[in-house]
Amino acid sequence: MNSSKAINQVAVIGAGIAGLACASELRSYGISVDVYEKSRGPSGRMSTRRTQEWSADHGAQYFTARDPRFIEEVQSWVLAGTAAIWKPKLKVYEAKAWRESHSQDIRYVGTPYMNSPGKHLAEGLSIQYERTISELERRDGKWHLQCSEANEITTLYDFVVLAIPAPQASALLKHLDSGAAHIADSAQMNACWTMMANFPHQLNVEFDAAFINQEIISWICQNGSKPMRQGGAWTIHGSPHWSQDNVELSKEQAQDQMLQCLTTLGFNYEDAEISMHRWRYASGGLENSVGFLSLPNIGLGLCGDWLNGGRVEGAWLSGFNLALALKQA
Ligand SMILES: Cc1cc2nc3c(=O)[nH]c(=O)nc-3n(C[C@H](O)[C@H](O)[C@H](O)COP(=O)(O)OP(=O)(O)OC[C@H]3O[C@@H](n4cnc5c(N)ncnc54)[C@H](O)[C@@H]3O)c2cc1C
Repeated sequence: MNSSKAINQVAVIGAGIAGLACASELRSYGISVDVYEKSRGPSGRMSTRRTQEWSADHGAQYFTARDPRFIEEVQSWVLAGTAAIWKPKLKVYEAKAWRESHSQDIRYVGTPYMNSPGKHLAEGLSIQYERTISELERRDGKWHLQCSEANEITTLYDFVVLAIPAPQASALLKHLDSGAAHIADSAQMNACWTMMANFPHQLNVEFDAAFINQEIISWICQNGSKPMRQGGAWTIHGSPHWSQDNVELSKEQAQDQMLQCLTTLGFNYEDAEISMHRWRYASGGLENSVGFLSLPNIGLGLCGDWLNGGRVEGAWLSGFNLALALKQA
Protein backbone atom coordinates (compact mmCIF):
# COMPACT_ATOMS: atom_id res chain seq x y z
CA MET A 1 0.00 0.00 0.00
CA ASN A 2 1.24 3.48 -0.77
CA SER A 3 0.44 4.89 2.65
CA SER A 4 1.47 8.49 1.90
CA LYS A 5 -1.29 8.66 -0.75
CA ALA A 6 -3.83 6.74 1.26
CA ILE A 7 -3.76 8.66 4.56
CA ASN A 8 -6.21 11.52 4.33
CA GLN A 9 -8.62 10.73 7.12
CA VAL A 10 -7.36 9.45 10.49
CA ALA A 11 -9.22 8.36 13.63
CA VAL A 12 -7.29 8.55 16.91
CA ILE A 13 -8.80 6.45 19.70
CA GLY A 14 -8.00 7.97 23.11
CA ALA A 15 -7.47 11.61 24.10
CA GLY A 16 -4.67 11.03 26.60
CA ILE A 17 -1.41 12.91 26.08
CA ALA A 18 -0.20 10.34 23.47
CA GLY A 19 -3.35 10.54 21.35
CA LEU A 20 -3.44 14.34 21.62
CA ALA A 21 0.24 14.64 20.61
CA CYS A 22 -0.33 12.36 17.62
CA ALA A 23 -3.54 14.11 16.53
CA SER A 24 -2.03 17.62 16.86
CA GLU A 25 1.02 16.66 14.86
CA LEU A 26 -1.01 14.93 12.11
CA ARG A 27 -3.29 17.96 11.89
CA SER A 28 -0.23 20.22 11.48
CA TYR A 29 0.62 18.15 8.35
CA GLY A 30 -2.80 18.97 6.91
CA ILE A 31 -4.28 15.53 7.61
CA SER A 32 -7.91 15.40 8.73
CA VAL A 33 -8.13 13.85 12.21
CA ASP A 34 -11.03 12.90 14.47
CA VAL A 35 -10.33 11.88 18.07
CA TYR A 36 -12.69 9.56 19.98
CA GLU A 37 -12.53 9.55 23.79
CA LYS A 38 -14.63 7.46 26.13
CA SER A 39 -14.57 9.88 29.06
CA ARG A 40 -15.98 13.41 29.33
CA GLY A 41 -12.73 15.32 28.78
CA PRO A 42 -9.15 15.11 27.50
CA SER A 43 -5.89 14.10 29.22
CA GLY A 44 -6.51 10.53 30.41
CA ARG A 45 -4.26 9.72 33.33
CA MET A 46 -3.03 13.35 33.62
CA SER A 47 -6.08 14.20 35.64
CA THR A 48 -7.47 16.11 38.59
CA ARG A 49 -10.38 15.21 40.87
CA ARG A 50 -12.44 18.30 41.64
CA THR A 51 -15.21 18.79 44.19
CA GLN A 52 -16.77 22.05 45.39
CA GLU A 53 -14.46 22.06 48.40
CA TRP A 54 -11.15 20.76 47.10
CA SER A 55 -9.19 19.52 44.11
CA ALA A 56 -6.31 17.06 43.83
CA ASP A 57 -4.22 15.68 40.96
CA HIS A 58 -5.05 12.01 41.32
CA GLY A 59 -3.18 10.52 38.33
CA ALA A 60 0.23 11.76 37.16
CA GLN A 61 1.80 13.91 39.87
CA TYR A 62 4.43 15.77 37.86
CA PHE A 63 6.48 15.19 34.73
CA THR A 64 10.07 15.55 33.68
CA ALA A 65 11.42 16.50 30.24
CA ARG A 66 14.68 15.09 28.89
CA ASP A 67 14.21 14.68 25.13
CA PRO A 68 14.86 17.94 23.20
CA ARG A 69 11.54 17.68 21.32
CA PHE A 70 9.59 17.21 24.55
CA ILE A 71 11.54 20.02 26.25
CA GLU A 72 10.48 22.30 23.37
CA GLU A 73 6.86 21.18 23.75
CA VAL A 74 6.88 21.76 27.51
CA GLN A 75 8.34 25.24 26.97
CA SER A 76 5.37 26.02 24.72
CA TRP A 77 3.00 24.83 27.48
CA VAL A 78 4.81 27.04 30.00
CA LEU A 79 4.52 30.03 27.65
CA ALA A 80 0.80 29.31 27.24
CA GLY A 81 0.41 29.23 31.05
CA THR A 82 -0.68 25.58 31.07
CA ALA A 83 2.42 24.19 32.84
CA ALA A 84 4.98 25.43 35.34
CA ILE A 85 8.00 24.19 37.26
CA TRP A 86 7.18 22.76 40.69
CA LYS A 87 9.91 22.85 43.33
CA PRO A 88 8.63 20.74 46.22
CA LYS A 89 10.37 20.21 49.54
CA LEU A 90 10.93 16.49 49.07
CA LYS A 91 11.61 13.78 51.60
CA VAL A 92 12.13 10.04 51.46
CA TYR A 93 10.79 7.50 53.97
CA GLU A 94 12.82 4.30 53.99
CA ALA A 95 13.61 1.61 56.54
CA LYS A 96 11.16 3.32 58.94
CA ALA A 97 13.07 6.62 58.90
CA TRP A 98 12.70 9.99 57.16
CA ARG A 99 15.54 11.62 55.25
CA GLU A 100 15.99 14.52 52.83
CA SER A 101 15.73 13.81 49.10
CA HIS A 102 18.74 14.92 47.07
CA SER A 103 16.92 14.63 43.74
CA GLN A 104 17.87 17.45 41.36
CA ASP A 105 15.19 16.67 38.73
CA ILE A 106 13.32 19.59 37.20
CA ARG A 107 9.67 18.78 37.76
CA TYR A 108 6.73 20.28 35.86
CA VAL A 109 3.03 20.23 36.61
CA GLY A 110 0.03 21.31 34.55
CA THR A 111 -1.42 24.66 35.68
CA PRO A 112 -3.84 25.20 37.20
CA TYR A 113 -4.63 21.47 36.90
CA MET A 114 -2.76 18.43 35.67
CA ASN A 115 -5.12 18.13 32.71
CA SER A 116 -4.36 21.70 31.54
CA PRO A 117 -1.67 20.79 28.95
CA GLY A 118 -4.07 18.19 27.50
CA LYS A 119 -6.88 20.74 27.33
CA HIS A 120 -4.47 23.11 25.59
CA LEU A 121 -3.56 20.46 22.99
CA ALA A 122 -7.23 19.57 22.53
CA GLU A 123 -8.13 23.13 21.49
CA GLY A 124 -8.94 23.18 17.80
CA LEU A 125 -8.92 19.38 17.43
CA SER A 126 -12.06 17.52 16.40
CA ILE A 127 -12.75 15.42 19.53
CA GLN A 128 -15.85 13.45 20.34
CA TYR A 129 -16.18 12.71 24.05
CA GLU A 130 -18.19 9.90 25.63
CA ARG A 131 -17.47 7.75 22.60
CA THR A 132 -16.05 4.34 23.54
CA ILE A 133 -14.76 2.56 20.45
CA SER A 134 -15.82 -1.05 20.87
CA GLU A 135 -14.97 -2.56 17.48
CA LEU A 136 -12.92 -1.80 14.38
CA GLU A 137 -13.41 -3.41 11.01
CA ARG A 138 -11.48 -2.86 7.78
CA ARG A 139 -13.55 -3.22 4.62
CA ASP A 140 -12.49 -2.20 1.09
CA GLY A 141 -9.43 -0.38 2.42
CA LYS A 142 -11.39 1.76 4.90
CA TRP A 143 -11.90 1.53 8.65
CA HIS A 144 -15.43 1.28 10.04
CA LEU A 145 -15.72 2.14 13.76
CA GLN A 146 -18.36 0.96 16.19
CA CYS A 147 -18.89 2.77 19.44
CA SER A 148 -20.79 1.67 22.54
CA GLU A 149 -22.77 4.89 22.89
CA ALA A 150 -23.82 5.59 19.27
CA ASN A 151 -23.34 2.34 17.31
CA GLU A 152 -21.61 2.81 13.94
CA ILE A 153 -19.65 5.98 13.29
CA THR A 154 -20.51 7.19 9.81
CA THR A 155 -17.08 8.60 8.83
CA LEU A 156 -14.75 6.03 7.25
CA TYR A 157 -11.02 6.25 7.91
CA ASP A 158 -7.82 5.43 6.01
CA PHE A 159 -5.81 4.99 9.19
CA VAL A 160 -6.63 4.33 12.84
CA VAL A 161 -4.35 5.14 15.79
CA LEU A 162 -4.95 3.28 19.06
CA ALA A 163 -3.67 5.61 21.81
CA ILE A 164 -5.03 3.59 24.73
CA PRO A 165 -3.49 1.37 27.46
CA ALA A 166 -2.24 -2.07 26.36
CA PRO A 167 -5.08 -4.24 27.75
CA GLN A 168 -7.69 -2.01 26.09
CA ALA A 169 -5.71 -2.02 22.81
CA SER A 170 -5.42 -5.81 23.01
CA ALA A 171 -9.21 -6.19 23.20
CA LEU A 172 -9.65 -4.20 19.98
CA LEU A 173 -6.72 -5.91 18.22
CA LYS A 174 -7.78 -9.53 18.83
CA HIS A 175 -9.48 -10.00 15.44
CA LEU A 176 -7.34 -7.52 13.51
CA ASP A 177 -3.68 -8.41 13.92
CA SER A 178 -2.51 -11.30 16.08
CA GLY A 179 1.10 -10.01 16.13
CA ALA A 180 0.12 -6.59 17.49
CA ALA A 181 -2.35 -8.21 19.92
CA HIS A 182 0.49 -10.43 21.18
CA ILE A 183 2.72 -7.38 21.77
CA ALA A 184 -0.08 -5.62 23.69
CA ASP A 185 -0.67 -8.79 25.74
CA SER A 186 3.00 -8.94 26.69
CA ALA A 187 2.90 -5.48 28.30
CA GLN A 188 2.79 -5.67 32.09
CA MET A 189 0.64 -2.86 33.45
CA ASN A 190 0.17 -2.21 37.16
CA ALA A 191 -2.79 -0.81 39.01
CA CYS A 192 -2.64 2.10 41.45
CA TRP A 193 -4.92 2.70 44.42
CA THR A 194 -5.13 6.46 44.98
CA MET A 195 -6.36 8.10 48.16
CA MET A 196 -7.26 11.78 48.28
CA ALA A 197 -7.40 13.22 51.79
CA ASN A 198 -8.68 16.75 52.32
CA PHE A 199 -7.62 18.25 55.63
CA PRO A 200 -9.48 21.31 56.99
CA HIS A 201 -6.17 22.76 58.25
CA GLN A 202 -2.49 22.85 57.26
CA LEU A 203 -0.66 19.70 58.39
CA ASN A 204 2.35 20.13 60.56
CA VAL A 205 4.82 18.33 58.28
CA GLU A 206 8.17 19.48 56.95
CA PHE A 207 7.71 18.48 53.31
CA ASP A 208 5.47 19.03 50.31
CA ALA A 209 5.84 15.53 48.92
CA ALA A 210 7.63 12.32 49.79
CA PHE A 211 8.70 9.09 48.14
CA ILE A 212 7.83 6.22 50.48
CA ASN A 213 9.82 3.00 50.10
CA GLN A 214 9.10 -0.51 51.43
CA GLU A 215 5.53 0.34 52.46
CA ILE A 216 2.17 -0.16 50.77
CA ILE A 217 2.09 3.60 50.13
CA SER A 218 4.72 4.86 47.67
CA TRP A 219 3.96 8.61 47.32
CA ILE A 220 2.33 11.36 49.32
CA CYS A 221 1.89 14.93 48.14
CA GLN A 222 0.29 18.16 49.26
CA ASN A 223 -1.54 19.55 46.22
CA GLY A 224 -1.47 23.09 47.59
CA SER A 225 2.34 23.12 47.21
CA LYS A 226 2.00 23.05 43.41
CA PRO A 227 1.80 26.30 41.42
CA MET A 228 -1.65 27.92 41.11
CA ARG A 229 -3.24 25.61 43.66
CA GLN A 230 -4.31 25.99 47.26
CA GLY A 231 -6.12 24.07 49.97
CA GLY A 232 -5.41 21.13 52.21
CA ALA A 233 -5.85 18.17 49.85
CA TRP A 234 -3.20 15.46 49.78
CA THR A 235 -2.78 12.73 47.15
CA ILE A 236 -1.52 9.38 48.39
CA HIS A 237 -0.60 6.58 45.99
CA GLY A 238 -0.43 2.89 46.83
CA SER A 239 2.74 1.19 45.58
CA PRO A 240 2.48 -0.51 42.16
CA HIS A 241 3.20 -3.90 43.72
CA TRP A 242 0.64 -3.65 46.54
CA SER A 243 -1.96 -2.00 44.29
CA GLN A 244 -1.68 -4.71 41.64
CA ASP A 245 -1.85 -7.50 44.24
CA ASN A 246 -4.90 -5.84 45.83
CA VAL A 247 -6.64 -4.42 42.79
CA GLU A 248 -9.87 -6.31 43.50
CA LEU A 249 -10.27 -5.00 47.07
CA SER A 250 -13.31 -2.83 47.69
CA LYS A 251 -12.59 0.91 48.06
CA GLU A 252 -13.31 0.59 51.80
CA GLN A 253 -10.84 -2.28 52.24
CA ALA A 254 -8.10 -0.50 50.28
CA GLN A 255 -8.76 2.69 52.26
CA ASP A 256 -8.44 0.85 55.60
CA GLN A 257 -5.05 -0.60 54.66
CA MET A 258 -3.73 2.71 53.36
CA LEU A 259 -4.94 4.57 56.48
CA GLN A 260 -3.09 2.08 58.67
CA CYS A 261 0.06 2.83 56.68
CA LEU A 262 -0.55 6.59 57.05
CA THR A 263 -0.57 6.11 60.81
CA THR A 264 2.81 4.35 60.57
CA LEU A 265 4.06 7.39 58.64
CA GLY A 266 2.95 9.64 61.49
CA PHE A 267 -0.16 11.19 59.91
CA ASN A 268 -3.26 11.91 61.95
CA TYR A 269 -6.10 11.65 59.43
CA GLU A 270 -9.01 11.87 61.93
CA ASP A 271 -10.61 15.03 60.51
CA ALA A 272 -9.76 14.41 56.84
CA GLU A 273 -12.38 13.84 54.14
CA ILE A 274 -11.23 10.73 52.28
CA SER A 275 -11.93 9.72 48.69
CA MET A 276 -10.55 6.70 46.82
CA HIS A 277 -9.86 5.97 43.17
CA ARG A 278 -8.74 2.70 41.56
CA TRP A 279 -6.57 3.01 38.43
CA ARG A 280 -6.60 -0.40 36.77
CA TYR A 281 -3.84 0.45 34.27
CA ALA A 282 -1.70 3.11 35.92
CA SER A 283 1.89 2.35 34.98
CA GLY A 284 4.21 -0.16 33.35
CA GLY A 285 4.36 -1.44 29.79
CA LEU A 286 6.64 -3.43 27.54
CA GLU A 287 9.89 -4.69 29.04
CA ASN A 288 11.74 -3.42 25.96
CA SER A 289 10.35 -0.16 24.62
CA VAL A 290 9.58 0.02 20.90
CA GLY A 291 8.46 3.68 20.87
CA PHE A 292 5.29 3.10 18.84
CA LEU A 293 3.90 0.54 16.37
CA SER A 294 2.91 1.20 12.78
CA LEU A 295 1.26 -1.41 10.55
CA PRO A 296 0.93 0.43 7.22
CA ASN A 297 -0.35 -2.69 5.42
CA ILE A 298 -3.60 -2.52 7.39
CA GLY A 299 -3.54 1.22 8.16
CA LEU A 300 -3.13 0.89 11.91
CA GLY A 301 -0.84 2.54 14.45
CA LEU A 302 -0.37 2.21 18.21
CA CYS A 303 1.06 4.76 20.62
CA GLY A 304 1.03 5.37 24.35
CA ASP A 305 3.21 5.29 27.43
CA TRP A 306 3.24 1.47 27.55
CA LEU A 307 5.19 1.32 24.25
CA ASN A 308 7.75 3.91 25.27
CA GLY A 309 9.05 3.49 28.80
CA GLY A 310 5.96 4.81 30.60
CA ARG A 311 5.27 8.27 31.97
CA VAL A 312 4.03 11.52 30.47
CA GLU A 313 7.17 12.20 28.44
CA GLY A 314 7.22 8.68 26.98
CA ALA A 315 3.53 8.92 26.04
CA TRP A 316 3.86 12.31 24.34
CA LEU A 317 6.95 11.19 22.40
CA SER A 318 5.25 7.96 21.34
CA GLY A 319 2.31 9.86 19.80
CA PHE A 320 4.53 12.54 18.27
CA ASN A 321 6.93 10.01 16.72
CA LEU A 322 4.12 7.87 15.31
CA ALA A 323 2.74 10.96 13.53
CA LEU A 324 6.22 11.78 12.22
CA ALA A 325 6.65 8.23 10.92
CA LEU A 326 3.31 8.42 9.09
CA LYS A 327 4.36 11.67 7.48
CA GLN A 328 7.66 10.18 6.35
CA ALA A 329 6.13 6.89 5.12
C1 LIG B 1 -1.71 7.18 39.67
C2 LIG B 1 -0.77 7.55 38.57
C3 LIG B 1 0.38 8.26 38.85
C4 LIG B 1 1.25 8.63 37.83
N1 LIG B 1 2.34 9.41 38.11
C5 LIG B 1 3.11 9.87 37.10
C6 LIG B 1 4.13 10.82 37.35
O1 LIG B 1 4.29 11.31 38.48
N2 LIG B 1 4.90 11.23 36.30
C7 LIG B 1 4.68 10.78 35.02
O2 LIG B 1 5.39 11.20 34.09
N3 LIG B 1 3.70 9.89 34.77
C8 LIG B 1 2.90 9.44 35.77
N4 LIG B 1 1.88 8.58 35.51
C9 LIG B 1 1.76 8.02 34.17
C10 LIG B 1 1.16 9.01 33.16
O3 LIG B 1 -0.05 9.52 33.66
C11 LIG B 1 0.93 8.24 31.87
O4 LIG B 1 2.17 7.68 31.44
C12 LIG B 1 0.39 9.09 30.71
O5 LIG B 1 -0.55 10.03 31.15
C13 LIG B 1 -0.21 8.10 29.70
O6 LIG B 1 -0.75 8.79 28.60
P1 LIG B 1 -1.42 7.95 27.42
O7 LIG B 1 -1.95 8.95 26.46
O8 LIG B 1 -0.46 6.93 26.92
O9 LIG B 1 -2.61 7.12 28.08
P2 LIG B 1 -3.91 7.62 28.87
O10 LIG B 1 -3.65 8.86 29.61
O11 LIG B 1 -4.38 6.42 29.65
O12 LIG B 1 -4.95 7.96 27.72
C14 LIG B 1 -5.72 6.97 27.07
C15 LIG B 1 -7.12 7.54 26.83
O13 LIG B 1 -7.85 6.59 26.04
C16 LIG B 1 -9.18 6.56 26.50
N5 LIG B 1 -9.73 5.26 26.05
C17 LIG B 1 -9.38 4.02 26.48
N6 LIG B 1 -10.06 3.07 25.79
C18 LIG B 1 -10.86 3.75 24.91
C19 LIG B 1 -11.79 3.34 23.90
N7 LIG B 1 -12.05 2.03 23.66
N8 LIG B 1 -12.45 4.31 23.19
C20 LIG B 1 -12.20 5.62 23.41
N9 LIG B 1 -11.31 6.07 24.35
C21 LIG B 1 -10.66 5.15 25.08
C22 LIG B 1 -9.06 6.73 28.01
O14 LIG B 1 -10.26 7.21 28.58
C23 LIG B 1 -7.92 7.74 28.10
O15 LIG B 1 -8.41 9.08 28.13
C24 LIG B 1 0.97 8.24 36.50
C25 LIG B 1 -0.20 7.55 36.22
C26 LIG B 1 -1.08 7.22 37.24
C27 LIG B 1 -2.38 6.54 36.91
